[in-house]
Amino acid sequence: MSLSIESQRVPALDLKAQYESIRDEIDAALRSVVESQYFILGPEVSGLEAEVAAYSGAEHGIGCASGSDALLLPLLALEVGPGDEVITSPYSFFATAGAIWRTGAKPVFVDIIPGSYNIDPAKIEAAITPRTKVIIPVHLYGQTADMTAINAIAERHGLFVLEDAAQAIGAKYHGRSAGTLGHAAAFSFYPSKNLGGFGDAGMVTTNDVELAKRVARLRVHGMEPKYHHHEVGFNSRLDAIQAAVLRVKLRHLDAWTEARRLVAERYKNLFFAEGIADKVVLPTEQADHYHVFNQFVIRVDAQHRDALRADLASKHIGTEIYYPIPLHLQVCFGSLGHKAGDFPLAEAAALETLALPMYPELTEAAQAHVVGSIARFIKAAAVGNERAA
Ligand SMILES: *Cc1c(COP(=O)(O)O)cnc(C)c1O
Repeated sequence: MSLSIESQRVPALDLKAQYESIRDEIDAALRSVVESQYFILGPEVSGLEAEVAAYSGAEHGIGCASGSDALLLPLLALEVGPGDEVITSPYSFFATAGAIWRTGAKPVFVDIIPGSYNIDPAKIEAAITPRTKVIIPVHLYGQTADMTAINAIAERHGLFVLEDAAQAIGAKYHGRSAGTLGHAAAFSFYPSKNLGGFGDAGMVTTNDVELAKRVARLRVHGMEPKYHHHEVGFNSRLDAIQAAVLRVKLRHLDAWTEARRLVAERYKNLFFAEGIADKVVLPTEQADHYHVFNQFVIRVDAQHRDALRADLASKHIGTEIYYPIPLHLQVCFGSLGHKAGDFPLAEAAALETLALPMYPELTEAAQAHVVGSIARFIKAAAVGNERAA
C-alpha cells in the first residue's frame, strides 16, 4: 500500500536510505575491521587519509577525531594563541569560532555576502591588525568562499588561510577542490555531512609537510616517537571503524554529489512552477563555483519564517535553521563586546534562512510535496508582499 502524498513524511535528512543503498559494502567493511581487532589509526585510517588527500588534490591528509579538532589542531600547530587574532565569518557552525577561542586567540568577525552566505572579502582588510595571524573562510552549505580575493589579501598581509571545508567536500572553485584552496583545510565527517561516518571523525588536508607532521603529532599527545613528548597535545585519533565506513562512502561521493545537485535543480524548477520563486530567495551557484549542496537553504521574510517552519513540521516535513544565532551574539563570546547590529547581514540571515530536506535519495514526488506545501502557506500568508510594498 502506498501512502498518499499528503501524509508522506519528508525528513530533513534520511541516512537510512543511504545505508540501504550500500549495506553490503558497509557491512563487509565493518566486519573486516572487527575481524582485525585493529581499532585506532592503523591501515584503514592511513588508507582514508591518502584517499581523501588524493580526492581533494592535497598532498597530505591527517585524520582526527572531529571536524572541530580539524580546525583546532592546525591553529595550534601554527602556534596561534593568546594575543593573536583570527578572522572568520559570524555565520557558521559554532566550532569555527570555538576552535579560535580554544587556542586563546580572539575571533574577529567579518560580515557575509547575502547571496552566498560566505565571508565578504571586501570587508576583510578593515579587520586586519598587527595581531592577525589567520583567516578562516567557511564554505557554507557546500559552496566555497571567494578564495581568489581572500588569498590575495592573506598574501599581502602574510596571513595563513585555513579553509573550514566541513560542509564542502567535493566543492570546486575555478576547477580546484575545497581542501586545496588555502594553506590547510578542515573537513568534518559528522554523519550529516556529504561524506559522513557512523560517528564523529574529521581530517586536515595541506600541502605543507611540516604542518602535516605537527598536526599528526598533536593528535597523539605531541608524541614522536612513542613515549617521547615534544609538546602537550590531545587524544584526537580517528578510529578504524569510521575510516572503513568513510572509505566505502568516498567511492560513492561523486554520484551522491551529482544527485544533490539534481535535487537542487528540481527544487528551483518547482518553486518556479508553483509561481513562488519571487516570494523567497533561492540559493545560487556563483560563476566558477561547483556547489555540493550540503544544504538547500532558502530565505523567507523574517516575520513568516518560523510560522512556515511550524506549518511544514505539522505536515511531517523536516526543516532546519542553519544558524539561528550568529556567532558574535552567542552568550559565551559576551566578553568580545558585540551587540545586535554589528554584523547586520549575518543577523538578517539568521532570521530568514530555512534549510529544506536535502539528501541524494530525495525523490521528486517528495520535493513536490515540500514545495507545494510551502506554496500553500505563502499564498495564504501573503508572504513577500511586505517586501514588495
Ligand atoms: C560540522 C561543522 C564543523 C564541525 O565538525 P564536527 O565534525 O561536528 O566537529 C565545523 N564547521 C562547520 C561549518 C561545520 O558545518
